Amino acid sequence: MRKPFVAGNWKMNTDIASALALARDIADRIGRLDGIDVAVCPPFVYLHAVADALSSSNIALGAQNVFFQPNGAFTGEISAAMLKDLSCTYVIIGHSERRHVIGETDDLINKKISAAINNGLLPIFCVGELLEQRKAGKTSAVVTEQVKKGLAGLCTERIQAVTIAYEPVWAIGTGINATPEQAQEVHAMIRDLLACLYDKTIASNLRIQYGGSAKPDNTAQLMTQPDVDGLLVGGASLKADDFASMVETAVKIKTGSN
Ligand code: PEP
Repeated sequence: MRKPFVAGNWKMNTDIASALALARDIADRIGRLDGIDVAVCPPFVYLHAVADALSSSNIALGAQNVFFQPNGAFTGEISAAMLKDLSCTYVIIGHSERRHVIGETDDLINKKISAAINNGLLPIFCVGELLEQRKAGKTSAVVTEQVKKGLAGLCTERIQAVTIAYEPVWAIGTGINATPEQAQEVHAMIRDLLACLYDKTIASNLRIQYGGSAKPDNTAQLMTQPDVDGLLVGGASLKADDFASMVETAVKIKTGSN
């Protein structure tokens, strides 16, 4: 059985005081929950402080991006080893804002995933279609290409470090989430694709999160879908109450506990 996994992407939000307050609040509320993996991904500059605030909890730390080179003349970039140094467990790679605002390509994303795994980080690899692609019936083709190119060259052993986050671009930050049925359809398609690219065991073990306007009042419906193993949460992860209640709902639905 796949352990549910909920991660909060704080994006370019918070300041040092509010990042610490949010981390402490989340750790107080859900820092001892069993049966689920939980991570928060603050901005790079607050990772160190947030790591301290989470140190006596089960909440893991993630970064929002990484560069693929190990070191050198790459002004402004951050390596996977640096993130490990700061106690990061996870790193978000290929988020739609990095693909569509910053211009990251599938090839760059593939290099980042590989570098992250080589350095012992667990990538949260984001894929998802634009609204016009969905309207044109291209969702499956777009997501298939992103998954194939993003995971290119990863052997059966290394792929096991990856969580895939299906995040339809039209749902991110818009307040319009994919319906549970739309999410399930794409998650099942990704799982079938993983069975073709790897094997059935890998496909059934790998976790697939949903992201895109997930909030407390749609968490239960989304998490009830058999192939939705967790959530990547943006806006709602900035409110400790909302994030904690989503985590509690997720673990309750997937494990029947609490
Ligand atoms: C995200 O940033 O990955 C995300 C899903 O954002 P939101 O929950 O705000 O739509």
